[in-house]
Amino acid sequence: MVLHPERLAICEQQGLCDLLEVFSSIQGEGPRVGERHLFVRLAQCDIQCAYCDTPLCHGVHARARVERTPGKGDFVSVENPVPVQSLRGAVEGLLAATPHRAVSLTGGEPLLQPWVIEALSPMIRASGARVLLETDGNLPDAYERVRGSIDILSMDWKAPSATGEPARYDEHRRVLGLSGSAEAWVKLVYVAETPEEEVALAARAVADVRPDVPFILQPCTPFARVRTAPSSDLGLRLVSVAAQHLSDVRLIPQVHKMLDVL
Ligand code: SF4
Repeated sequence: MVLHPERLAICEQQGLCDLLEVFSSIQGEGPRVGERHLFVRLAQCDIQCAYCDTPLCHGVHARARVERTPGKGDFVSVENPVPVQSLRGAVEGLLAATPHRAVSLTGGEPLLQPWVIEALSPMIRASGARVLLETDGNLPDAYERVRGSIDILSMDWKAPSATGEPARYDEHRRVLGLSGSAEAWVKLVYVAETPEEEVALAARAVADVRPDVPFILQPCTPFARVRTAPSSDLGLRLVSVAAQHLSDVRLIPQVHKMLDVL
C-alpha cells in the first residue's frame, strides 16, 4: 500500500483535491460501456493491484492535467493539489461544452477524498449528467458518507488471485449493502490463474446482498505484473459458475483499450 495520509488530511482541511487528470472519453468498462463520460481521476489508492494500469495514482505529483476541450487531448497542466472550487469550475465548463451521460469519479480510489465527491455532485447533477463512482469497494464508511451524492455505483470485487492483495470481502459486502436500491454493478477482474471457487464465492456473496445487480467478469488486460491474458475458455467457464447464483452475469472486456482512447 502506498498511501499518503498526511497529504489527504491537508487536502481535506484546505478544500483541495489530490488530482491526476480530467478528460472526456468513452466509458470502456461495465454495463454503461460506450457512453460518453467525463472522467475525474483522483490520486492515491489504498491498495496496489498487480494489474493496476494507473500506477501514477500511487505517487505524489506536483502537477495534474485537465483537458481544455472534451476529447481533444489538449491538456493544460495545473498545480496539484487543486482547489476543489477550481476543479468544479473546470468540470462544469467541460460538461457545458459537450453533453456527457455521466461523470465517472475514478482513481486511484476516489472514496479517499469524500469531500471532493460532495463538492462536485450537485453541480454534475444540475448539468444533467449522472454521478458514477468507480471504487475498489474497500471503504464502506466513506461510501456511507457520500452515497447520497452518488447515482451509480461501480464496485470492484477484488479477487486476490488477480490483485495479489488480501481479500476484503466483508468491506465489499458492506459497500454493496449500503447501495440500497441505487443503480449498481459489481465487477470482478480475473486472470488466467483465477480459480472457479473464487468467482463462485463472489457471486454467492453478491446474490446474498444485491441479487438484482449485474455481475461483470472482466478479463484482465495484461499490464504491469500480469503478462498473459486469460483464455476465452476460462471466461466461458467463469460465466457459467457465476450464473449458478446470479441472473445477470456478463463478460465485458476493457473496450476503451480496443478503441485506443483514454
Ligand atoms: S484499486 Fe484500481 S487504482 Fe487502485 S491499485 Fe487497484 S487497479 Fe490500481
